[in-house]
Amino acid sequence: MREEIAELEAVARRLEPDASERSRLQSQVAAYAEAYLAGIDDAPARSPRPDGGRGLYDSPVTEEGIDIREALALLHDNVDTVGLNPPSGRYLGYIPGGGVYPAALGDYLAAVTNRYTGIYYANPGAVRMENMLLRWMAGVVGYPEDAAGHLSSGGSMANLTAIVTARDAHGIVGDVIPRAVVYMTEHAHHSIKKALHIAGVDQAVHRTVPVDERYRMDAAALDAAITRDQEAGLQPWLIIAAAGTTNTGSVDPLADIRQIATSHGVWFHVDGAYGAFFALCPEGKAVLRGMGESDSIIMDPHKTLFLPYGTGAVLVRNRRDLFASYDVEADYMQDARGSYEEVSPADISPELSRHFRGLRMWLPLKLAGVRPFRAALSEKIQLARYFHREIQRIDGFEVGPHPDLSVVIYRYRPSRGDADEFNRRLIRRIQDEGRIFVSSTRIDGRFMLRLAVSCFRTHLGDIDETLAVLKRTAREMEG
Ligand SMILES: *Cc1c(COP(=O)(O)O)cnc(C)c1O
Repeated sequence: MREEIAELEAVARRLEPDASERSRLQSQVAAYAEAYLAGIDDAPARSPRPDGGRGLYDSPVTEEGIDIREALALLHDNVDTVGLNPPSGRYLGYIPGGGVYPAALGDYLAAVTNRYTGIYYANPGAVRMENMLLRWMAGVVGYPEDAAGHLSSGGSMANLTAIVTARDAHGIVGDVIPRAVVYMTEHAHHSIKKALHIAGVDQAVHRTVPVDERYRMDAAALDAAITRDQEAGLQPWLIIAAAGTTNTGSVDPLADIRQIATSHGVWFHVDGAYGAFFALCPEGKAVLRGMGESDSIIMDPHKTLFLPYGTGAVLVRNRRDLFASYDVEADYMQDARGSYEEVSPADISPELSRHFRGLRMWLPLKLAGVRPFRAALSEKIQLARYFHREIQRIDGFEVGPHPDLSVVIYRYRPSRGDADEFNRRLIRRIQDEGRIFVSSTRIDGRFMLRLAVSCFRTHLGDIDETLAVLKRTAREMEG
């Protein structure tokens, strides 16, 4: 028996490379990362490749391994040179973020040391680090220090966490569901609808609140709708407001909505996935007034705190509400039970074992300090305002409202033919060229182009180049 085990051990030990092998692996990986970053200023923002990385299938997972160089070549050819390139400063579609470098080092250390961050008992320091970051975020958005929350995988999971909490806090179960009413605008992110579905409250009444000319929730219309629903015997339950919509970056009138929610006893949730971190800079803080008075809020450090994908956050004002929805006991967890001064993520979220997300956030914030983040956010807002001003100066382009944050909507008005069709072709041409990446949306039934400035690498030169590409492409098409 011992012999057999020893034979297995000899093979199993290959899972632990020795120091010299580790150093070889690391230098290969570091060289790969350096080459990627050295090329980022010139790399396309999109590489449309018809094979779509299919080459990976030529190298299936097999009994014996391959060399790191071969693995990195597969990664390069099939993943890192195909599709969208969100770390590029000329990536201006959807909601960019970028991924600051020290976050990658934080991830590396988190994976090497593999601390267990689900419960305080397992690693008090890791839990303290994340809770400290959550208290810092609470300060940024204007929440009280004793609000509770956790770092999630992203905004969608954070919205789901908050919506389940709001459901339980207001007893939205059984017969109550079809009488409960949810209020949001047509610009609410689709993860909200997904969350309502997963939370089992699809059957609740959905009210689409009208927006004003800047695509912000019409507070008077919200108030009137809630009053009507109350009079009709329904149960107004949840208002979902946006601190920056994905479509246009518009910020709903949060302070007014707070008053309406309070006067009718409705839960007030703020989706700040894209916009909440703009509270770090003066331009954003002014626009986001009232955000800190909501009952729950989400924000995405992987968007406007420029961290790599897989980092969201949720905060709930009254920590008891979060515990009520997520704190469940199990016998095999009995050693970990006890009353501690810090909340454990597992007690207030759907997750148990989880990535140590705090380290990828803590390291960049500690190394750089907050100042460069604050400056970058101001810069993004000002770049969006600059684009909004400059694109109007190019013959044929028309714009949407002055941006609340860093999203601009605009389009080209062709001298002849259908404008929707022209803009659809315009964007396809630019996306296929790939030098810059901008995306499109549909607003009031019209095909509109969007520019979202929120990658930390996007600077004045990138916006000037984007303006030039838009001008040249429109001219060529007018031909
Ligand atoms: C991006 C976004 C979400 C979804 O967040 P993910 O991190 O992509 O899951 C939700 N709401 C808004 C306003 C967003 O911009």
